[in-house]
Amino acid sequence: MRHDPQAYFDHQALSRNLEEQSPPEIIRWAIDFFGPQLCMSTSFQLGGMTLLHMLAEAQKDLPVESRVPVLFVDTGFHFPDTLAFKDEVVRRYGINLVTLKPIIDRESFVRFYGDDRLYERNPNECCRINKVEPMQRALKKYDAQLIALRRDAGGDRAGIQILERRTDGKHLVHPLANWTRQQALDYLKDHNVPIHPLHEKGYKTIGCFPPCCTQPVGEHAPERAGRWTGTGKTECGLHQVGKARPAADFSI
Ligand code: SF4
Repeated sequence: MRHDPQAYFDHQALSRNLEEQSPPEIIRWAIDFFGPQLCMSTSFQLGGMTLLHMLAEAQKDLPVESRVPVLFVDTGFHFPDTLAFKDEVVRRYGINLVTLKPIIDRESFVRFYGDDRLYERNPNECCRINKVEPMQRALKKYDAQLIALRRDAGGDRAGIQILERRTDGKHLVHPLANWTRQQALDYLKDHNVPIHPLHEKGYKTIGCFPPCCTQPVGEHAPERAGRWTGTGKTECGLHQVGKARPAADFSI
């Protein structure tokens, strides 16, 4: 099946059919269907590493520059561990990495906001400037985005479909939607794929380094309990881009 951006297709029926496919099969379908209009985004956590490995396997005969572009938002607030791990993974798996940056540099940011601790006063605005806007800008080039969200992470993620159409007509593809965290862990172990070093220090999910944004949690805590703890904010807004509810509505 060739991708024709003008053609109408029943994405809900297609999504239901994709529920029966394995994640590598869904990735293969997305590569064939969307062609060069497909990208992936990741921050190199468990699900992202699972997808990255599957994507690398699907494209191992291609030169790096012909592989699906992998978007990474460099917020300027990542843990050093994340940046070092990203570099190692890019080298190891031949990732066609596209690094996205906020539209204003840190110096201008500090001049405008008085300091760089906007994450303490208004994390939604901080995420909007440093994560969501760079991603929105980059996604204009693509029709579809592979993302490693899983339903079992809970919250807004519990209702995701494998294939979703955004309000702007573009598509989200969630090959791991019906996988569990344990399945992703088992896959990584079985394929000898490295995991982000902070996972082993109690961080179930990993965002930016300020403690108000990312904290380690107990073994039995909900997966996203360590993000913006105590504020009511659960998502940065990246995965709400183009959805019916705008990112700014995911408020504290
Ligand atoms: S996670 Fe925290 S530091 Fe990173 S962009 Fe969002 S509010 Fe800012």
